Amino acid sequence: MRAMLLDRPGTPLRLADVPRPEPDPNQVLIRVHACGVCRTDLHIRDGEVEPGHLPLILGHQIVGTRVDTGERVGVPWLGWTCGRCRYCLSDRENLCENARFTGRDIDGGFAEYAVADERFVFSLPRDYPHLQAAPLLCAGLIGYRALRFTGDAKRVGFYGFGAAAHVVCQVAVHEGRRVFAFTRPGDLEAQALAAELGADWAGDSTMQPPEELDAAVIFAPVGALVPTALRAVAPGGTVVCAGIHMSDIPSFPYVDLWRERVIRSVANLTRADAEAFLALAPEVPVKTTVTTFSLEEAELALEKLRSGAIKGAAVISVAA
Ligand SMILES: [Zn+2]
Ligand SMILES: [Zn+2]
Repeated sequence: MRAMLLDRPGTPLRLADVPRPEPDPNQVLIRVHACGVCRTDLHIRDGEVEPGHLPLILGHQIVGTRVDTGERVGVPWLGWTCGRCRYCLSDRENLCENARFTGRDIDGGFAEYAVADERFVFSLPRDYPHLQAAPLLCAGLIGYRALRFTGDAKRVGFYGFGAAAHVVCQVAVHEGRRVFAFTRPGDLEAQALAAELGADWAGDSTMQPPEELDAAVIFAPVGALVPTALRAVAPGGTVVCAGIHMSDIPSFPYVDLWRERVIRSVANLTRADAEAFLALAPEVPVKTTVTTFSLEEAELALEKLRSGAIKGAAVISVAA
C-alpha cells in the first residue's frame, strides 16, 4: 500500500510502498478514506513529541471502512489502554500509564490502510462526508474536552483559531456561551472565520479582549500566551492549555494567578469523550471547514500548518 513515512524527526515525510498491515486478534483492518492533520502530527514530525517507533506513519483522525464489516468508522488518538492501571481503574483512561496512541505508537492514517483496536474505533455521524468527519476525531474530541474544563464559563477566550477552535467555537455558541477569538497578529482570515462561526469578538492575541473573560483555552503551542490569558480572565477563571506540547511558559507575577485563577492542561481523551462528542456534533450541528491535501502532499500540509496558512482543518484525502 501507499503510505507517507517519517524516517526520522526533523526530516520530511516520504511516500513509500509498504506492506498492508495485518490486524492482531483484537484489531480490525481499516481502508482509509481520509485522515485529519493535527498539530500533534507536526510536533512528532519536528521532534517535539517523541515517536513510538521509526519509520512511523502519522495521522490519528482516521475516517475509514472496516474491511470485515463494511462499517464506516473513526479512529482517534487514544489507540489502546491497559485497563489495569490506577488511571484506567478510576475512569481516567486518558492518563493510562501504558497507553498507546494512534500515529505515534501504532501506525496511523497517512496511508491506504491502518489497523486499530476494535474497542477504540467509533461509528461516525452519517451526515458527515469523509473529509468533513475527519477533524471531529481530534480537533473536535480533545477540543471538546478542553471546553468542558472551562466549567460554566459564559465568556470564553480561544487563543489560536485553527482546527480545534473552529469546531469548539460552534459548540460553545450552541451552549449559549460568548466566544472571544484570538489569532496570530494580522490573521484576518481566521478572525473572519471566527466571526462567521458565531464568535462575539475576534482580534490579535496581543490585544486585550473588550471585557474580562470567565475562562480561556489556549490551542496555540505558545507558552507566552499563558500569562497573557491569565491577565484576560476574571478572578476564579480557568486557563486551559489544550495542546500536547507548548514552548516554555515565561515567569509572571503571582498577582496574575492570585484570586483563585487556575491553569490546567488537557491530556488525550477517553472513549466516553468520543461517544459524547460524536453524538453532540450533528446536533449543534458542527460544520467543519477543511483544506484538503492528497496523500503525497502530507508534508506540504504539515508545512502549511506550521506557518499558520490553513483555514479551519487540514485533511488528507486518501481514497473515496
Ligand atoms: Zn490530535
Ligand atoms: Zn491503564
